[in-house]
Amino acid sequence: MTDRIKFLGTAGARFVMIKQLRSSAGTWITLENKNLLLDPGPGTLTRCAKCRPPLDPARLDAIILSHQHIDHANDVNIMIEAMTNGGFSKRGALFVPQSALDDDPVVLKYVREYVKEIFILRQGASFALGKVKISTPLRHIHPVETYGVVFKTPKYTISFIVDSRFFEGLIEKYKKSDLIVINVVRLDGKGEKSLEVDHLTLEQTEKLIKGIAPRQAILTHFGMTMIRSKPWEMAADMERKIGIKTIAASDGMEFDLEKELL
Ligand SMILES: [Zn+2]
Repeated sequence: MTDRIKFLGTAGARFVMIKQLRSSAGTWITLENKNLLLDPGPGTLTRCAKCRPPLDPARLDAIILSHQHIDHANDVNIMIEAMTNGGFSKRGALFVPQSALDDDPVVLKYVREYVKEIFILRQGASFALGKVKISTPLRHIHPVETYGVVFKTPKYTISFIVDSRFFEGLIEKYKKSDLIVINVVRLDGKGEKSLEVDHLTLEQTEKLIKGIAPRQAILTHFGMTMIRSKPWEMAADMERKIGIKTIAASDGMEFDLEKELL
């Protein structure tokens, strides 16, 4: 199994999800022979089954929730069932903020019994899964408890900068990344309701990429204003402007880390 990231879905925020203009399924990450699923939004199980070749959830080693919002967490219970062979094999790990267990208990209580271990995400926490170090260096600014996730292997460091309001701490904490994957929900701040302010705009994303200076950046989790402006064109423009390889994810896109992380 080569190290890779498979974007099952690239939808961000409500309307792109509700209308399924893009799939809202999560991201399947394979690193050092471990299979990790980040933010299983609506449709994750279906997308796993429909992949060619299909992705077998029974081969997952961990499911990670960055936060409890429905576009990130809707399929968490069914994916735990699938990871644990319907609950018959107690296996796998769940990484989750405390509030997703308590405030809004999005993980059903009986399903919690199926996983081998539950790890609570906190700012500054880190965990080892074989040769993969999983850490959450920073609590993001978002309406609910939310953490960005960093995967470090002997070969590279990959940071998933999930939903957040922009703040300088993001640059500082993700600085040593080889690859960053950023949730870019908004094109700009115009004409939007206050609810949407806790998401990154394209301009803020550019500032982040420039500041962090990774080898490469991938944009994903697009809201309506981003979809309308063709994210692949926005990514190409950004790459020209800042000189750091930047691409836009599309549904089903597979990123081979060994071949493509130049
Ligand atoms: Zn959110």
